[in-house]
Amino acid sequence: MTIVMKDLNVPHRYLLGPGPSDVHPRVLRAMCTEVIGYLDPEWNALMDEEQALLREVFQTRNQMTFPMSGTGSAGMETAFCNFVEPGDKVVIACNGYFSERMCEMAKIYGAKVIRLEKPWGGIFTPSVIEDVLIKNKPVKIMALVHAETSTGALQPLEKIDEIVHRHGALFLIDCVTSLGGIPLKIDDWGVDIAYSASQKCLGCPPGLSPVTVNDRAREILYRRKKRVSNWYLDLTMVEKYWNQDRIYHHTPSTTLHYGFREGLRLILEEGLEARWIRHKKNAEYLWDKLEALGLKLFVPAEYRLPSLSTVCIPDGVEDATVRTQLRETYGIDIAGGFGPLKGKIWRIGLMGYSSRHENITLLAEALREIFRQMRMKA
Ligand SMILES: *Cc1c(COP(=O)(O)O)cnc(C)c1O
Repeated sequence: MTIVMKDLNVPHRYLLGPGPSDVHPRVLRAMCTEVIGYLDPEWNALMDEEQALLREVFQTRNQMTFPMSGTGSAGMETAFCNFVEPGDKVVIACNGYFSERMCEMAKIYGAKVIRLEKPWGGIFTPSVIEDVLIKNKPVKIMALVHAETSTGALQPLEKIDEIVHRHGALFLIDCVTSLGGIPLKIDDWGVDIAYSASQKCLGCPPGLSPVTVNDRAREILYRRKKRVSNWYLDLTMVEKYWNQDRIYHHTPSTTLHYGFREGLRLILEEGLEARWIRHKKNAEYLWDKLEALGLKLFVPAEYRLPSLSTVCIPDGVEDATVRTQLRETYGIDIAGGFGPLKGKIWRIGLMGYSSRHENITLLAEALREIFRQMRMKA
């Protein structure tokens, strides 16, 4: 039997959802570069460059800073499989979908998970974090999500490190939807372990998960009683490939790394601060536009996330109908809510290359037109 298929033909989309975001054309172009071997001296030089760029974007001097092969969840699993030993107490600040995933992973690696809870969309004050650390002493890890993509809430990080460290714990953060889009300073803010993903504010395709670990956490890793229960993500081995003798561990996707290097180069070309301001300004423009349409934003302005906005779906408006029309008529991709927020909110991402003024104007006009037609039909 012969199977004949048509040429690949993917429609154009404006990716204004929770990720992936639009990939910058220069990143796409870099990815057409030919593949070379993972032990080629030229490739080694590219790895060094990529790490130098990544340290700058993370605002860290951590030697152990590199992208893991895999999506953001691989970064999350790296953080938990390397630093959790069976019986360790891990406090997880639960206020959305991704902190639930953290709890699951921590349990898989044998942690005693202590959940610090807020309703979806809430954030945590330093004092509630301190209380739980005192009550459960000794805690090995305090973990939280900086930018909760399921709710649109931004968890402030400043001043938390001092509390976490005073009580002898490691400070672990998910910065998947913040890195490259909103202020994040790994060293200044005392973060010990962090991971992110290539396809959100970094403007690259999915497939790489940058991770950074400071010396304090690295020492704890090397003092483990039991070896890491995950072969692929064991940092003691992956580090040998990135930072030491460059011996084979697994075959990295050179293609993805070419694109990632270009994405990081674009960030520093623009300037980190300038990029944070662009994300903020564009988000404010979106919020104004949505409010002008009579819509209500889900998260209060003080801790609203610029890279992902959540907006309440008005009564009588059908979630899926609007999203389908946005996609079919305008090529715009946004997302609905899930868990307790299913059917209640839309999630609009303005991440990396997607965070552009013209995209917001288009989305707002598309929504205006869709609502107008709905009123006419009603
Ligand atoms: C997207 C996301 C992840 C998971 O990343 P994948 O690339 O889908 O594996 C983890 N945490 C947060 C906050 C995210 O937004």
